[in-house]
Amino acid sequence: MKLIDLPKLSTKRIKALSESGIDSILDLLNFFPRRYLDRTTVTKIQQLHGNGEQVTVVGRIEKIQQQGRGRKKRLEIIIRDDTASLKGVWFKGGHYIKKQFSEGELVAFFGKVKKYGRQFSIAHPEYDKISDNSDIQDLKKIVPIYPSNKLLSKTRTTSKLIHKWQKVILKHESPPEFIPKNVRQKHKLPKRHEAYRMIHFPESTSEYKQAFKRFKFEELFLFELSVAKTKHEVIEKHQGKIFDNLENYTSKFFNEHLPFELTKGQKSALSDIKNDVRSGIQMNRLIQGDVGSGKTVVAIGAILMAVDNNCQAAFMAPTEILAEQHFRTLSNFLKPLGINIRLLVGNQKMSLRTDILTDIEGGNCDIVVGTHAVIQKEVNFHDLGLAVIDEQHRFGVKQRAEILKKGSHPHVLVMSATPIPRSLAMTLYSDLDISIIKGLPGGRKPVKTAVRPQQKHNDIYNFVEDELNKGGQAYVVYPLVEESEKMDLKDATAGYEKLQKRFPNFEVGLLHGQMKSDNKDTVMQQFINNEIQVLVSTTVIEVGVDVPNASIMLVEHAERFGLSQLHQLRGRIGRGNRQSYCILIHGHKVSKEGQFRLGKMAQTNDGFEIAEADLELRGPGDFLGTKQSGLPEFRVADIVEDQFILEQAKTAAWKMMEDDPSLTQPEYQELRKVFIPYYKERSKFYGTG
Ligand code: ADP
Ligand code: MG
Repeated sequence: MKLIDLPKLSTKRIKALSESGIDSILDLLNFFPRRYLDRTTVTKIQQLHGNGEQVTVVGRIEKIQQQGRGRKKRLEIIIRDDTASLKGVWFKGGHYIKKQFSEGELVAFFGKVKKYGRQFSIAHPEYDKISDNSDIQDLKKIVPIYPSNKLLSKTRTTSKLIHKWQKVILKHESPPEFIPKNVRQKHKLPKRHEAYRMIHFPESTSEYKQAFKRFKFEELFLFELSVAKTKHEVIEKHQGKIFDNLENYTSKFFNEHLPFELTKGQKSALSDIKNDVRSGIQMNRLIQGDVGSGKTVVAIGAILMAVDNNCQAAFMAPTEILAEQHFRTLSNFLKPLGINIRLLVGNQKMSLRTDILTDIEGGNCDIVVGTHAVIQKEVNFHDLGLAVIDEQHRFGVKQRAEILKKGSHPHVLVMSATPIPRSLAMTLYSDLDISIIKGLPGGRKPVKTAVRPQQKHNDIYNFVEDELNKGGQAYVVYPLVEESEKMDLKDATAGYEKLQKRFPNFEVGLLHGQMKSDNKDTVMQQFINNEIQVLVSTTVIEVGVDVPNASIMLVEHAERFGLSQLHQLRGRIGRGNRQSYCILIHGHKVSKEGQFRLGKMAQTNDGFEIAEADLELRGPGDFLGTKQSGLPEFRVADIVEDQFILEQAKTAAWKMMEDDPSLTQPEYQELRKVFIPYYKERSKFYGTG
């Protein structure tokens, strides 16, 4: 059967469907209701309460009238049953509705009923015309309401019409089952064809719930299968270089050059890494630790292990400022040991760049620190043994794959401060092993956070001045306005000028994304050396920046920032032994959600708690940046809400991959047909195909 075989499918409707992503019969079957109206009980109008309850009423049309003028124009249809009357009201599109009804007809209205005076009324009711001799039983069903949009409603591709089509399709088509029987039985999933029937023509609430569960499971199951297969075929199979000599640099650095004692968490992460790089299998490890937990030094450890074994290491950061900071840190620590480190970022001078690239290719440099520039085509490593990706949530799965191609199965270490709830981490990073750094280095005082309105600027500046007088330093951050760096600059520049006047006794600096890298570096260096005390900035300092003497983070228009972003910003302070303060300043109008975010920041310093709240607010797509994260956009499933189904699907998928990775068993044949193209698509994405 083809789409064009359906009744009432005009060219216009075909186009409207196509715009909504429906190009085939299967697409249409997969076009699920957005909600259901439960009409299984008809209420007598007299018995209504009128406090917004969802009801079905049946009555005869007493009057059809156009009321009001201009914007208040509306269509009213009054119906009456044997107890009382009720008014249906349409504020727009009344004309089209009006044409369909005539006085005396029997109709059913469904919707939320309100009471105005003594009159019950339903705004924009769903409706059904009932012929006098039709069976009242026809009414008593659960009616699916399909999603609509401009084009669908313009072409009158109504929910009802779509419902009719579904009936025709299900009569003629029976999409093959591909979830193996044992899995279906274990998780009590209805068969595919039956599930389509249950979702489009449910006989009870529980039927469509079961059907939804099946389709969610199906989606998550395919996804987990692909993750499991990637792990099986692509990752575990690779041998890794063995780094067993740690004598020259690694031991020396930790025993003689490190100015502090490692925390427990850092030690255990390092020991995980040591085990990985000695195992003979390629390392794929995620180090997760809250902002300030000291991930950099763990990365340095891994890098030294590579250098000790005559391999090169790459250290990638998402921003130039951060790359430069890492370059400085590594240079300070490692130059004395005689290790050659180079910085590779965008817009470096041609001659310098050529020199660096030659160095990397010739094997004259041991460590390359840089931004995305490191994965450009022209960069060829002599022998890349380890790739470290800092702030990995800022990169995509693709970039991880790119850097992998720069060597022959180099070990991979990714670091992230975004604590991801367990189920999400399992899904996203199931091809990674995870080490968690718990706790912060000792001697730190928890940052104190205050939320203040704009009118308090005077008091706040006085407070900042006190802190500067005591020797502290401050960040003042302005938000991105409409994602445009140029607009964004206006605010920061104005702030910079204002603050120069307000703090004449201190140096005020300005840092933003549009500055040349050299200038950025100079300003940052001055802030580090305390030649600048107040650093006015855009969000370019959001990730990773480490200046332990900074003790104030003042965020302007804090209500415009997301939770994770605010947490990252706050993570710039409280890195030394100074008591630090985060001051979140907000404008006059703050949305409910904005208030919640600011409240949350004031309430806790715990990155994990903040991430969970953020995930809940934004959903996984936004939270992780769906395109980047490698997480597909699920059609029905929601990996936050459907964690339970996710666990089930994961267990089933991973077990199947374990038992029969090529899905050769006869009962897996249908699954193979669906899975193989799915997997190909995903592999392209991962860059592993
Ligand atoms: P993050 O995990 O946010 O990347 P960093 O690696 O930037 O954190 O470390 C934060 C600060 O803490 C740095 O100034 C670093 O030198 C310092 N630091 C790291 N580990 C320790 C430790 N064990 N004891 C004391 N200070 C530490
Ligand atoms: Mg860091």
